[in-house]
Amino acid sequence: MTSNNSQLHIFFLPALSPGHMIPVIEMAKLVASRGVMATIVTTAHNLAFVSRTISTYSTKIKIVTIKFPYAEVGLPEGCEIIDSDTPPDILFRVIKALRLLQEPMEQLLSSYQPDCLVADAFFSWATNSAAKFNIPRLVFHVACLFSLCASHSIELYEPQKKVSSDSETFIIPSLPGEIKLTKMQLPADLPKTGVEAEYINKMVKAVHESVENSYGFIINSFYELEKDYVDYYRNVIGRKAWHIGPLSLCHADNIEEKSQRGKESSIAENECLKWLDSRKPDSVVYVGFGSLVNFSDSQLMEIALGLEASEKQFIWVVKKSKRNEQEKEEWLPEGFEKRTVGKGLIIRGWAPQLLIMDHEAVGGFVTHCGWNSTLEGVCGGVVMATWPVSYEQIYTEKLVTDVLKIGVSVGAQTCDGIVGGIIKSEAIEKAVNRIMEGIEAEEMRSRAKAFAKKARQSVKEGGSSYSDLNSLIEELSLKSLKH
Ligand code: UDP
Repeated sequence: MTSNNSQLHIFFLPALSPGHMIPVIEMAKLVASRGVMATIVTTAHNLAFVSRTISTYSTKIKIVTIKFPYAEVGLPEGCEIIDSDTPPDILFRVIKALRLLQEPMEQLLSSYQPDCLVADAFFSWATNSAAKFNIPRLVFHVACLFSLCASHSIELYEPQKKVSSDSETFIIPSLPGEIKLTKMQLPADLPKTGVEAEYINKMVKAVHESVENSYGFIINSFYELEKDYVDYYRNVIGRKAWHIGPLSLCHADNIEEKSQRGKESSIAENECLKWLDSRKPDSVVYVGFGSLVNFSDSQLMEIALGLEASEKQFIWVVKKSKRNEQEKEEWLPEGFEKRTVGKGLIIRGWAPQLLIMDHEAVGGFVTHCGWNSTLEGVCGGVVMATWPVSYEQIYTEKLVTDVLKIGVSVGAQTCDGIVGGIIKSEAIEKAVNRIMEGIEAEEMRSRAKAFAKKARQSVKEGGSSYSDLNSLIEELSLKSLKH
């Protein structure tokens, strides 16, 4: 089972949610397209997801399954796919189970002897495991370098401790661009009490250490998008990072690949494309909040009211299913779908997001600032209304609105976990109008389209991401010859 000596072999271990699996699978596709042997490790219940997304590369990428320790953490079989339906207690057990994957993973490393392990930041043991086999561990982190630099600076200088109130603004110290934030906007603190707090705090510490001791980061981004921050990360923070994205561009214009990406789509791709084909360029706003956000019915109601008041054409993805046509949906205003027929399309469940985003009819995107979605928005040349909900998404908002100037904020004041505070319909209507019409929108659109062009250039031969991936492959090949 060992790899052929002349061919570099990389093992990929993604975390178990769509937003983490998709880019890692795309990374495997990308390296396979450069002649590297790629193996993805996942659990049996995530196999279908991985296989669908690999799509036309199924003969070029190997998938190996690892046994998930359901019984050990008291979970029913098959519940390890983390998404908007995952309740917090299940999530906590899945996180606990990740630790137990170390041993089976080391058995795989021992039998396959790859030259490198690319593991999601969540796997706190991965650096040690790779070291046991004398191979480098690269960290995959679903974030841009701007976010990594911003959070590094906040951790180091703690500017939030020097303000007198939660709403007083401070500038992120030492970071290029005078980026302003409030304490309230910062990602939520870790839990301090409760049975889970101690475990989560320990795990976060272990993740930090593992990341610090790793060989470096692979980033789904491109140099031209965040030059100052790529340079800052490398030169000021002094860590190795390779930007090899946008990874979603590995599908090029292959409609089959784009349709098969992630879960099975809740709408027939043809139906979706037909709907979009009949619209004018840049006339549709796409409203989607990734795979994890689960807004309350009252928040969904505000979104519906805001969209209707904006009078714009829209595609809105809602993580809800309808049991039958007669079912009354508490989150929709009475008669909404009848009134917006021909103007709006609601997708209940999973949307073929990449197909939609790349369609010329789509000109705006209301987003939760998940990094994959944001970068997909950049590649689609759309203007964004930013609505960060949790984690590092507030930093992504700042990149989009303050640095790149290709979007406006809907005005979320907190970034505190699952809902980020209720945003009223008036704010949603206003943000949608700002990104879809008027001089400000036109200026943002022209900048957005310029970034979309640069994104495509970056992955072509000679482009910045193409070259960075070359350097990474060369460096790993040299290392593998030495051991
Ligand atoms: N996605 C999709 N259809 C959906 C929801 C999400 O294709 O209905 C994809 C989206 O294109 C992106 C990923 O899932 O690639 C979500 O990642 P992101 O970082 O944006 O957000 P997360 O889900 O991790 O919060």
